[in-house]
Amino acid sequence: MAVGLVLLPLSTGPACVCAQLSLPHLGRQAELRSIVGDRLTTQPAALEQHGHDESYHRGRPPQAVLFPECTEEVSRIVRAAAAARCPVIPFGAGTSLEGHIAALRGGICLDLSRMNRVLQVSPEDMDCWVEAGVTRKQLNQHLHDTGLFFPVDPGADATLGGMAATRASGTNAVRYGTMRDNVRSLTVVLPDGTITKTGRCVRKSSAGYDLTALFVGSEGTLGVITEVALRLYGQPEATAAAVCAFGDLKGAVETATLIMQVGIPVARIELLDDLQIDAINKYSHTDLQVAPTLFFEFNGSPAAVKEAAEAAGAVAADYGGSNFGWAEKEEERRQLWSARHSAYYAARALRPGCSGFPTDLCVPLSKLTETVLASQELCRRHGLLAPLVGHVGDSNFHMLLIINTENAEEVARAKQVVADMVHLAQDAGGTCTGEHGIGYGKLCHLEREHGLPALQAMHAIKAALDPLDIMNPGKLGSDPASFAAAGRLVDP
Ligand SMILES: Cc1cc2nc3c(=O)[nH]c(=O)nc-3n(C[C@H](O)[C@H](O)[C@H](O)COP(=O)(O)OP(=O)(O)OC[C@H]3O[C@@H](n4cnc5c(N)ncnc54)[C@H](O)[C@@H]3O)c2cc1C
Repeated sequence: MAVGLVLLPLSTGPACVCAQLSLPHLGRQAELRSIVGDRLTTQPAALEQHGHDESYHRGRPPQAVLFPECTEEVSRIVRAAAAARCPVIPFGAGTSLEGHIAALRGGICLDLSRMNRVLQVSPEDMDCWVEAGVTRKQLNQHLHDTGLFFPVDPGADATLGGMAATRASGTNAVRYGTMRDNVRSLTVVLPDGTITKTGRCVRKSSAGYDLTALFVGSEGTLGVITEVALRLYGQPEATAAAVCAFGDLKGAVETATLIMQVGIPVARIELLDDLQIDAINKYSHTDLQVAPTLFFEFNGSPAAVKEAAEAAGAVAADYGGSNFGWAEKEEERRQLWSARHSAYYAARALRPGCSGFPTDLCVPLSKLTETVLASQELCRRHGLLAPLVGHVGDSNFHMLLIINTENAEEVARAKQVVADMVHLAQDAGGTCTGEHGIGYGKLCHLEREHGLPALQAMHAIKAALDPLDIMNPGKLGSDPASFAAAGRLVDP
């Protein structure tokens, strides 16, 4: 039996969603099918998969998933959705971690994975245009023989549209910057279906408001990104990676801090505590020394790599770091970074059946050591299992709380500890999220971080571009009532 698709009227809040979901309404489904044909599904498994992310946050399925194949189709779908006041949730690979893709108010999910063409690579300009559904690994495979690469690398194989939408970063950001620094322009479908470009594909421009920067990090709340122009880099002449274990966590963090302060050029510098190393050994079958550890990578000419590595090694030795263990061959380096990128799953495997509640604090460099140590102590004191990984060159680190979501007391305890950690970071001049974004999971921390005037400016931007509040509603930039309801939204 065909499941009816309901194009919901704009709801007043999550409380009314369940009742609306059961209403049959086949007319609009026919309209959407006339645009995408069979590329629309209401299969329960597909709806479930598209409404739930990789974290402990409760998901909520959309009412239909559509798979557009070009910008024009996205435009027609969004125009139809706007006419019906139907929520639209853009979807890349679904690897976000803060409930970003939960269809809090029902509506349709636009899965952009079929928009996966690399449109243009300009080696002379060192940039490219890709469709939003191209993944970072796919792009780098495509670039393999050009001598160029795209460096931003969240652990998961996310789409470039999703990475732009979350202003993602990763292990390479310390050297190459985040999506904020590497998106040159975007094609966007606005909430009324209009197609627009956010700027010219050039290294810099002072021509007007920076719309590219506005859409980078907008989390699907201002429009659908359909194409992304990206800055590319030359593949480094030489690369070396190393692992260095420390007697204590403080020594490892202070090493990273000093390396950044004195400007030793690292391409990557990642912190892992002993718990995380133990988890990685078990999950990735490595035999790393179980101790607080820094993973390094250096890029450049052979001489520059040697010089940087020696300088970093000397700093590490001063803080109790043992000899660098070098991963010289490309295969060894690949294994090392693959183990690092599996850290989240390795941490979750420590407690099978439990879920991940990752934090994402980022603080000024001078406050990194005290914030890391205080966060670790908070988790220990409250009896929470929480391995630590960090992009410490950017002063950004994650405590990966592994919690049993069936245990209400444990969930409440974890939420309180995370709130305390966020306050620690904010009081140190930092942020509740360095790279994962807000979704609905971190909505409750925004006002404390930005203050009411800045929040109201965000609401004004959202209201101006999306007056019907159809784009990923209940998330970033939704109306003040949604923010007031944030307590309820945390557990839809
Ligand atoms: C194991 C693991 C490790 C991770 N490590 C990192 C890390 O190191 N650094 C980091 O930054 N993140 C990390 N993440 C988080 C995640 O990979 C990033 O947030 C990523 O950018 C999400 O991309 P996606 O394609 O999966 O987007 P989705 O999860 O599908 O969507 C994310 C948000 O963007 C919106 N969106 C998606 N596509 C579009 C579009 N085309 N137009 C408009 N809006 C859109 C969605 O509506 C949603 O709000 C990690 C996640 C996992 C599971």
